[in-house]
Amino acid sequence: MADDIAKVTFLSVTGVVLWCPYCDDLQGGFCGDPRGQKFTCENCNKQFNVHKEADCDFL
Ligand SMILES: [Zn+2]
Repeated sequence: MADDIAKVTFLSVTGVVLWCPYCDDLQGGFCGDPRGQKFTCENCNKQFNVHKEADCDFL
């Protein structure tokens, strides 16, 4: 019976990356959830906001 199998209800996500909306450069090294925050691209130095409800793609 499938209900006998324990369920995990918490996921710890590490290694968040995203792509700059201006130059498409891969940005990493975020501490915590970057959604709803403003960052400066390490490649083109332009500022961008991460949508507070941005989708997560689990790789
Ligand atoms: Zn950029």
